[in-house]
Amino acid sequence: MSLGRPRISVCGSINMDHVSYVRVAPGAGETVVGQGFHESVGGKGASQAVAAARAGGSVEIIGAVGDDTYGLLLRSSLMDAAVGTSGLRSIAGRTGMAHIVVDDQGENAVVVVPGANASMTGLTKVEEQRIALSDVFLTQLELPMTVVEAGLRAARGAGVKTVLTPAPVLTAPLTQTVLDYVDVLVPNIHEAEVLTGEPYPLKAAHALLDAVPEVVITLGADGCLHLDREGLPLWIPAFNVAAKDTSGARDTFVGAFTVARMAGRSVVPALRWASAAAAIAVQGQGATNAMPHRAEIDRLFAGTPRQRRP
Ligand code: AMP
Repeated sequence: MSLGRPRISVCGSINMDHVSYVRVAPGAGETVVGQGFHESVGGKGASQAVAAARAGGSVEIIGAVGDDTYGLLLRSSLMDAAVGTSGLRSIAGRTGMAHIVVDDQGENAVVVVPGANASMTGLTKVEEQRIALSDVFLTQLELPMTVVEAGLRAARGAGVKTVLTPAPVLTAPLTQTVLDYVDVLVPNIHEAEVLTGEPYPLKAAHALLDAVPEVVITLGADGCLHLDREGLPLWIPAFNVAAKDTSGARDTFVGAFTVARMAGRSVVPALRWASAAAAIAVQGQGATNAMPHRAEIDRLFAGTPRQRRP
């Protein structure tokens, strides 16, 4: 492993997020006036890549954008976030889009049009080599399962650690063939319940350990639960902050946890550091806009007051 700066490959979806803020989301046939709007880099692949890069990883993304203006914009935004894009495909057609409506209770309604993301059906040899050259591989379930499986298999074949975020869970049932390639599984509580039938986090975590060696179940404002085959369950509380928008919280958590572990931190400090990162992210708006840099995470982690961003 490269000292201090883990090499991280991320294979996943890349979307342009269009986020509108409204008091109450419109019903069928209704038009409402919004209070605000922003565009940001989204999709779980891009979000985890940005989170890991901001947390201090050396990150390469594997995925696809379209040959439209959003594709160009996303490529340059990822580069600005220090995410390596030399392996990013640009295909004829539209970039993935997400239309997100957030009401004043913080509830989301989302329409995703996969566009270029759906054009990926497998990985090229070059993409597999890119994965093989990394220290750790991150993926999620927003790309077709054939791609997810190919990425995990390439990583496992090269002895690269793998981290799977099983989201969105309902569109793609997970097979044991896929789970056999996974070192760390990071479901939220809803996904853990769908995967195991267990509504209680601890029981769900124990059930998941039959399939993978290490599990972190994220519990929103209730923190997270960690369990592996060697140790006792660990519950790490969330930082007490006023959350504004929790989209991207888990992607921030996964990116930061991965960097911390691969840089040599043990499990508890890594979980706390990742919780600090996610706590900063939920105080801002948008999936990637509010993701913190390493120094900001260190400040909250160390308990010193966070300085305002310029
Ligand atoms: P989730 O995907 O909502 O389970 O959140 C992932 C992680 O983000 C959690 O394990 C917490 O560390 C953090 N988090 C989520 N929501 C909040 C919140 N309201 N306040 C503080 N931290 C949060």
